[in-house]
Amino acid sequence: MIFQDRSALVTGGSRGIGRAVALELARGGANIAIAYAGNEEAAAETLAACKALGVQAIAIRADVRRAEDCAEMVKETLAAFGRLDILVNNAGITRDGLLLSMSEENWDAVLETNLKGAALATKAALRPMMKQRFGRIVNLSSIAGVSGNAGQANYSASKAGLIGLSKSVAKELATRGITVNVVAPGLIETDMAAALPPETQAAIISSIPVGRIGAPEDVARAVAFFAAPENSYLTGQLLCVDGGAAV
Ligand code: NDP
Repeated sequence: MIFQDRSALVTGGSRGIGRAVALELARGGANIAIAYAGNEEAAAETLAACKALGVQAIAIRADVRRAEDCAEMVKETLAAFGRLDILVNNAGITRDGLLLSMSEENWDAVLETNLKGAALATKAALRPMMKQRFGRIVNLSSIAGVSGNAGQANYSASKAGLIGLSKSVAKELATRGITVNVVAPGLIETDMAAALPPETQAAIISSIPVGRIGAPEDVARAVAFFAAPENSYLTGQLLCVDGGAAV
């Protein structure tokens, strides 16, 4: 129960990797707040699964692109649990296409959700974490942000930006007991991966040394590692969870 008496806010916690992260932290004893964009049913399922593990859990509908929503989700987490120890910036979207034909709208939507959203949520969480002199921030990047990916210039740019954001904020907060680290998954079996054409999925899987698509739980364990209270000397780091693909 390494997260006993801790509380965690997981953005995009209603589904996919975010749900697995919420459950992994709940298994360690953390009280859980999830933020989600609009899928009430999925959010309710995650809440029920967290509560079944014996922790408290709340769901907050919040758009991470909006500073007011980010402030509100932090406020609600503090009101429910009295503290905020772990922030997992996991909410993310794709709007794939070649840059040549990419609309400005699709560029902005991805950058605003994946990169600006993480910056706004982090900013909102910093004051309570600084007051506590303790915080663990884990940002979900992607191997597309490390290696680039044709058809994902907007997504790759947002995910590479997250690495720069994390390394910078890690340095800003290093003396405050707050760590900031990055997990970069490869292809993981969620709704986001299911949106890829089957032949694209097959091509990616054939290039993964471990020979299979990742599970959300594979990523969740890496997030929990960075979130662990004892890992106070580990900050500004990037961990790829990709079956060996980016090595
Ligand atoms: P999913 O598409 O399964 O889930 C996305 C989650 O983000 C949902 O909870 C959704 O809420 C939420 N969300 C989307 N937009 C917003 C917003 N504006 N404000 C708040 N919440 C929002 O994604 P995955 O689980 O697959 O991915 C999670 C993270 O991992 C993402 O950052 C993704 O880029 C990254 N990743 C995923 C990989 C994969 O192969 N799946 C590979 C590499 C990285 P709602 O349910 O309400 O719609």
